[in-house]
Amino acid sequence: MGRKLVILHVDGVSADSLEQALREGEMPFVQHLIDAEGYVVHRYRCGVPSTTPFAQAGILYGDNAEIPSFRWWDRERRVLVQFGARSSFKKVADTYFRDCEPLTKGGACIAACYPAGAADDFGIAYQDRSYGQEERSRSAARVLVPYLANPVHLGDWVWQTVAMLARTAGDYTEARSKGRRPARPYVVTNVVEEIFVHHLTRYAVEQAMREGYSPIYAGFYAFDESAHAFGPGDRSVRRALKHVDHSIRKIASARGNGYELVVLSDHGQVDTIPFAGAGRRPLGEVLAEMLPGFRVQEMKGKAYGPPDDAAQGRVHAIFSGGLAHLYFAERRERIGYRELMTLHPQLVPGLSGLEQIALVMARDGEEDVFWKAGLEVRGPAAKAEIAHYDDPDILLPQLSRLNSFKAAGDIVLFGAFSGGRQFNFENQAGGHGSIGGDQLHPFLLAKREWGIDTSEVHGAHEVHPILSRLRDHLIGVGP
Ligand SMILES: [Zn+2]
Repeated sequence: MGRKLVILHVDGVSADSLEQALREGEMPFVQHLIDAEGYVVHRYRCGVPSTTPFAQAGILYGDNAEIPSFRWWDRERRVLVQFGARSSFKKVADTYFRDCEPLTKGGACIAACYPAGAADDFGIAYQDRSYGQEERSRSAARVLVPYLANPVHLGDWVWQTVAMLARTAGDYTEARSKGRRPARPYVVTNVVEEIFVHHLTRYAVEQAMREGYSPIYAGFYAFDESAHAFGPGDRSVRRALKHVDHSIRKIASARGNGYELVVLSDHGQVDTIPFAGAGRRPLGEVLAEMLPGFRVQEMKGKAYGPPDDAAQGRVHAIFSGGLAHLYFAERRERIGYRELMTLHPQLVPGLSGLEQIALVMARDGEEDVFWKAGLEVRGPAAKAEIAHYDDPDILLPQLSRLNSFKAAGDIVLFGAFSGGRQFNFENQAGGHGSIGGDQLHPFLLAKREWGIDTSEVHGAHEVHPILSRLRDHLIGVGP
């Protein structure tokens, strides 16, 4: 058979967002794949945390254990592990993915969180992952220069830049005129992402196909960034899907070189409201009041409580959308629930009583402990409390898995929903990482003839064997 595989990761697009865009005719090429090439939209569950590093580790390695969020505190190495511009994953990378068979072994992995055994990343990383440099890894310059040297690309890029800036300015003004508060930092990153990285990644994928790499995995973040900025339901965000559809079409047109195409997402997004706002105080400030003498540091934010030299201890509050992990920073291991309740009896009940908090989670030995609205619940009794976030028979094991991670916070918090929007611990208009709504429900678009079934996929790590089998089937080494 000897077919090659290119997998396009469109970040943050839930199955519902995709189907809505198709219904509204905003993704004509994906519609063509469905109508004319026998593609079907498979829904799957990414698990909790519903965030990129967790989902991509699952998809690329089949193992996303001990990845509790987009960022977390590593108690042993005493570092804040995060992805994004100031990535620090390399400081703990040696403790991950041992004995895993990466999906893109010997292939190309472009604009993703991890090198995933790929021979080349075309110099484009979702983060600086210099620890993953392979012999043949080329520098970004080797991609950028030929790309910009082509007047068509340059013209296309300049035109897109102007159009995008004008559009975003318009979207921003419109959102403000409607009393909405776009998350400014994301408006800017969105522009850069959509104009620059998106184009470059697309060009790198075409280059990798010309050079015959397989499998190829490439991440596109335009939708996710704009959804963080304006909220996933916003008109301008759905327009980002048009852009994504155009890129899928361009890459698909290069399939002649013996490639099969899969398009997937890693999680969805929900509309959110800031935790602190409308008279509500920041979580750090609330925590400092509940923990007199402790200095509370919101990682990526402010510090509250006494100065370091006067503090009896420090708490790191680490956020990822509607998910928060709280760490007693001096500790080398996760604090058990009983000790927590002995040391700080008011803390957990107090947090669970906040209107912005839906659920508090802690670990008592091997047992999960939840608090909701001032009440403690354990075991199967918790199902009733989480039923409106997703099927409790699926969600409870997902929460329990996260709660089994040593890297998880001493206390884990989940934002409540109000008026259909989730309280977000970060300054975003759209978010993910937590429970409830579309964020838990991404998609995988593949040909019906490949016989893929994702109905029982309850975690992104269960997508890995499905794609590995497809890769091998296409090459002709698997069933
Ligand atoms: Zn993502």
